[in-house]
Amino acid sequence: MADQTGENSAFPQGLRDDLKRRLAQRLACDGPLTVAAFMAEALYDRQAGYYATKDPIGAERDFITAPEISQMFGELIGLWCVQTWKDLGEPERLHLIELGPGSGALMSDALRAARVAPDFANALRVSLVEISPALQAAQAQKLSNTSTPIDWTDTLPKTGNAPCVIIGNEFIDCLPVRQFIRAQGQWWERLVGLDPNDHDRLAFVLSPLPAPDHICGEFELHEAEDGALIEIRPGVTPLIETVGHRLSAQGGRALFIDYGPAEREFGDTLQAVRRHQKVLPLDTPGEADLTARVDFAALRRAILGNGLEASGPATQGEWLVRLGLEHRAAALIAQSPDQRTRIATQLLRLTDDNEMGTLFKVLCASSVGLPPPAGFEESP
Ligand code: SAH
Repeated sequence: MADQTGENSAFPQGLRDDLKRRLAQRLACDGPLTVAAFMAEALYDRQAGYYATKDPIGAERDFITAPEISQMFGELIGLWCVQTWKDLGEPERLHLIELGPGSGALMSDALRAARVAPDFANALRVSLVEISPALQAAQAQKLSNTSTPIDWTDTLPKTGNAPCVIIGNEFIDCLPVRQFIRAQGQWWERLVGLDPNDHDRLAFVLSPLPAPDHICGEFELHEAEDGALIEIRPGVTPLIETVGHRLSAQGGRALFIDYGPAEREFGDTLQAVRRHQKVLPLDTPGEADLTARVDFAALRRAILGNGLEASGPATQGEWLVRLGLEHRAAALIAQSPDQRTRIATQLLRLTDDNEMGTLFKVLCASSVGLPPPAGFEESP
């Protein structure tokens, strides 16, 4: 693969090689890492981690997301936020928090659409939770024309007493996962170690000891067949605990949009994507985006377990259509008939079963007592 040399990359080859070399040295000294620890190093290493160093999103980069496909996605989320503000009784202050805002496209489109409700727009304070300095700079640039006050943090900000709305599109999929494999009636953790035949290569190995029962036990996984692989995402627990405290104390909603099944599925879903191509997850730490499917059943359980109400998951396709995506597309086409094909293609990519429509799901957490959120069936 000629383009893997990284000549076009914003990041010097030497440092990226260095991450792989440092990981190999660490594995040689300390022994294998969990898959989650490997993901954390590959994504967040301060010098050479993927999110720490790159601006990966867009047609020319590594992957493309819904807000990059179409302005309609962020616009509808902006209108959904207006509806949530109304559901909250039109408070004078609303804190809108986006987790992992990428290029800033979603927030930019949402704020523009929200101008239809000036009182909402005036109530807004925005916080962007972003770990990547490169992406923080891209977001500041993209949002430089807005009059809404915006600040940046790298963890969920304190929000005073104001109700809040939290949005995370393709945020949870990059939180690291641990993997466990079933054998001899027990779960064994899948780890990342060194290839015994080539100490420069990383390879999956199995923990020599079975995992303690409580790690997989609470999910009634005792019946799983030998060879089954389960993924667990430890970062969801503290995230949803914090969201639960905030929303319970101040009122509000959190909206999570991501790819993954509505019910738990077994199987290895760790994937590495570089320039729109899948690559081997252990081969290029720091150079490829690493994600794994979101288990929406587990996310829903965490939401309910933290005193919140859960709506969904709905499929992205049905949720966007219920919010009026087709009407918005028709209005845009009426404004610019020469853009018909482009807009129709965007609509298809967001909603079609063979594109993002079914694989991507939307799950909403609400503080107790609010009306059902827009876009979800009334009875989940
Ligand atoms: N929501 C955007 C970007 C998705 S990519 C979109 O839909 O286009 C994931 C985003 O989350 C990136 O902005 C990445 O830098 C950020 N991110 C990943 N892990 C993070 C973490 N632990 N804390 C804060 N931001 C994180």
